[in-house]
Amino acid sequence: MSENTEYSFFGDVCKSFDKAAKFTKWDKGILEQIKACNAVFRMRFPVKMDDGRIEVIEAYRVQHSHHKAPCKGGIRFAAEVNQDEVMALASLMTYKCAIVNVPFGGAKGGIKINPRKYSAYELEKITRRYTSELVKKNFIGPGTDVPAPDYGTGEREMAWIVDTYTTLKPGEIDGLGCVTGKPITQGGVRGRREATGMGVFFGVREVCSNDDVMKNLGLTTGILGKKVIVQGLGNVGYHSGIYFQDAGAKIVGIAEYEGAIYNPEGMDVDEVFQHRKSTGSILNFPGAQNIEKSTAALEMECDILIPAALENVINEENANRIKAKIIGEAANGPITPEADEILNAKGTLVIPDMFLNAGGVTVSYFEWLKNLSHVRYGRLEKRFTENLNSHILSQMEVLSGKQVSPSEREFIMHGPDEISLVHSGLEETMISATREVMETWKSHHNIPDMRTAAYVVAINKVATSYAELGIFP
Ligand code: GLU
Repeated sequence: MSENTEYSFFGDVCKSFDKAAKFTKWDKGILEQIKACNAVFRMRFPVKMDDGRIEVIEAYRVQHSHHKAPCKGGIRFAAEVNQDEVMALASLMTYKCAIVNVPFGGAKGGIKINPRKYSAYELEKITRRYTSELVKKNFIGPGTDVPAPDYGTGEREMAWIVDTYTTLKPGEIDGLGCVTGKPITQGGVRGRREATGMGVFFGVREVCSNDDVMKNLGLTTGILGKKVIVQGLGNVGYHSGIYFQDAGAKIVGIAEYEGAIYNPEGMDVDEVFQHRKSTGSILNFPGAQNIEKSTAALEMECDILIPAALENVINEENANRIKAKIIGEAANGPITPEADEILNAKGTLVIPDMFLNAGGVTVSYFEWLKNLSHVRYGRLEKRFTENLNSHILSQMEVLSGKQVSPSEREFIMHGPDEISLVHSGLEETMISATREVMETWKSHHNIPDMRTAAYVVAINKVATSYAELGIFP
C-alpha cells in the first residue's frame, strides 16, 4: 500500500491488539507500552548503479519491542516498503516470538526496491551498505538485533550481511549470530529454508486433527484428501504445498503474480515449480485451467486456502466470495480486519499468521543458538546414540532370539543429526503453540476468533515479561 492513502497496516495490527486486550487483565499503560514501536531507524543512502548513475535508496529497520534481547525479524526488498508497513511487521514479530516461546523482541527491516530491477552486483552493494548503516547505529548484532530473510530476500543476501558485519567487527566471537537464514557454509542451520512452510503445515495439521473444530466446519478430521489452494510459489508457498501434498492433500490451485492455475483433480507442486522455472510463467500447466486474474484463484472451490505472498490480499471487496472453510495465513497480514469480520461471520476458520508462520523465526532461533554455541547440532551425541541403540538392539535380539528387519534396524539405530533435531524442534514448537492458542480460545467463551486468542496469548506473555523485569511495579 502506498503512503499517501489513508490505509495503515500498523493501525490494523493495533486494532486487532485492542480487540484482544479487552480479554486480558493488564492496565492501560502496560498495553500502550507493548503496542508502541520502541525504535524506528529510517535511512537514505546513495548507491552507484552499473550504468554509473547514483540512486538514493530508502530503507528502514524498526525494533518494535526490547522486552527481550536481541530483537529479531526479517528484511524485505519490495517496491511497496514504507515505514507504516515495517512497523506493523515488526509488531507482528514480537507477538509471534512470544506465542512460540522464542526469547526475542520483534523487529523488521525493509528496503524500498523491486529486486527484479537490479543486477546481482547492485543488490550486493545495496545490502552491504544497508548493513553498514545498521552497524553505525548499533541496529544489528547477535545481542542487539538479528535480521533474517523475508519477502524478496534469501540466503544470498544474508551471506552478504554476515560478511559485511564480521568485516566491520573483527574478532567478535559470536559475529556469525548477527543474522539468520544464512547458507550452511556461512553458519546457517539445516532446515531453515523449508522452516516457514513446514511450520504452516504442522499448525494447520494440528487444527485439522481436532474432531470438534472439523465437525463444526463440516469437514472430516485430518489432512488426507483435503483440497488446498496456495497463493504464492515462493519459499513459503512452495514448501507448504509440498508438505500438504506429501500428507495426502490435493493441491487444486496455485496462484502467482502473473496468473493462476486450477485443476480439481490436483497438481504436483514440484512439477508446477519446474514448469514455471522453464517457461517463466505458472500459466499453461498441462491439465490445468488458466486463471488470468491471479486474485480470482483465492475465490475458487477448496477446503484450505494458504495465502503465502503479501498482505491485504483478502479484503472487504473479495472476502464474501472466499469459499475455503479454513484459511491458513502463511504470509504476514494477508487478511484485513474488515475481511476478518466478514469471514468470521461466515464461519470461515482463520488460522492467524502470528503463530502459523512462526516456523521461520523458530528455526532462526535454532540457528542463532548454533552460532553462539559454535557447534553443529548432533555433533556430540549422534555417534554415541547410534552405538548405544545398536547395543540395545543386539541385546534384544539375543534375548528374544528374533531379528528386526534391516529397514527397522536403520530407523532404530539412527542417531540425532542436525536436520532431524531441527525438524522435530519445529514440530514440537508448532504443535504446542497451536494447542495453547486453541485452548485459550476455547476457555474464554467470549473470544470471537483464533486471531484474538493468539493476541491474548501474546499480550499475556509480553506483559508478564515486562512485569517480571520490574518495569511496571
Ligand atoms: N521473515 C520471517 C518472519 O516474518 C522470519 C524472521 C526471522 O527468522 O527472524 O517471520
